[in-house]
Amino acid sequence: MDTSATSSPAPEAADTPMTKAAPIEVKEFENLYEMAVAQFERAADMTDLNPALRAILSQPKNEIIVNFPVRMDDGSTTMAKGYRIQHNNILGCYKGGLRFSPLVHLDEVKALAAWMTWKCALADLPFGGGKGGIQIDPTQLSRSELERVTRRFTHALGNNIGPDYDIPAPDMGTNAQTMVWMMDTYMNTIAYASKNVSRHVVTGKTVASGGSLGRDEATGRGTVYNIASWAVENGVDLQHCTVAVQGFGNVGSYAARILQDEYGAKLVAVQDHTGSIGNKKGIDANELAGYVEQDGGVKGYGKADEMSAADFWTAECDIFIPAALEWQLTSDNAPNMKCRIIAEGANGPTTMAADKILTENGIEMIPDILANAGGVIVSFFEWTQNRRGETWYLDEVRHKLKRRIADAYDRVTQTMNHYGCTRREATSIAALNRVAQAYDERGIFP
Ligand code: GLU
Repeated sequence: MDTSATSSPAPEAADTPMTKAAPIEVKEFENLYEMAVAQFERAADMTDLNPALRAILSQPKNEIIVNFPVRMDDGSTTMAKGYRIQHNNILGCYKGGLRFSPLVHLDEVKALAAWMTWKCALADLPFGGGKGGIQIDPTQLSRSELERVTRRFTHALGNNIGPDYDIPAPDMGTNAQTMVWMMDTYMNTIAYASKNVSRHVVTGKTVASGGSLGRDEATGRGTVYNIASWAVENGVDLQHCTVAVQGFGNVGSYAARILQDEYGAKLVAVQDHTGSIGNKKGIDANELAGYVEQDGGVKGYGKADEMSAADFWTAECDIFIPAALEWQLTSDNAPNMKCRIIAEGANGPTTMAADKILTENGIEMIPDILANAGGVIVSFFEWTQNRRGETWYLDEVRHKLKRRIADAYDRVTQTMNHYGCTRREATSIAALNRVAQAYDERGIFP
């Protein structure tokens, strides 16, 4: 099979636009994976990707589905369905999170796995893309039930994961404790002498069990470093910026806190599954994070006013951070958004139709695979520390993260200039070119 000429030449800094992107026909997809493929095909068209590679990258390499029994606290047994999708590993081990949610389904996980391939490539990590999940509602399970689900799932996956093969991490509904249970289960199924050199079978662990300092804040911090790069590029002073955040979990709350504490920006509106709140004078992001941890959501927070969902979406702010589920920015709410820039802390929060509307309205976008890459970047640091038997200081982790984000951001800007395209198209193209180059060099076996 001829795989030559799969990629376009690497873009040079500040060169003139190569092509003006052809207008895109936009439709609202009902399936997240179809949207992920449409985004990929857009980049493939713009880079004139060779058909063989287009076919390879249009589908995941492996789709693993496991059905397994879990013993509940009341003595009954329930069946759970778990997924692990391994999209691509040309650049390195499959890498990506595990999601516990009643909404988890095959096409969602396939889309998320593909985005991990592009995210890792864009951040220049030696990783491919994978994603997994279990279709359960973790809020309805006791701690011991959650532990049994996690351990049994890990056991069911068997050799489909491994420290040098496929490395899960936290995502929605999972956390550092979930990863420690997975690591411990995995370690107990392998030879004695290999146990302690296998900690990197998962990342995002607690620090006591081999995690990295700074991994908990990493996704939100990466989002902020992207915003900081944009601010420098556009001469914007973040001290005078207002921020709205959708989703106040790990990503949203850390992003808001770091923007406030380190850059002087002001949080003015927040929405989560319990409601929407706003305060033009500012909401203390640290205090709100404490409140949410105790009360389970932003509703009822005393130092802000409750607002309708419609008011939240039209709130005046400079920076909008969607950090909840996919497909939150739609053709319904996008036309009325008043922010200057959107930084996608979540994966796939914007539908393609909304994306087009926002572009037409001159709202800038830092797309998910760039804006939320901080998590997997520090996962790479954790993996490296485990492999080398090292522990890095927090300032080292933050410094290295900042540099990687700044580099990725710059590569995207160069790609934007080179192709004369949007920042979303440029992220896909830069990532695709990296993967395509590896295929070009290695060829297809045999
Ligand atoms: N789940 C996160 C993401 O979507 C982190 C993945 C990882 O650290 O491997 O990027």
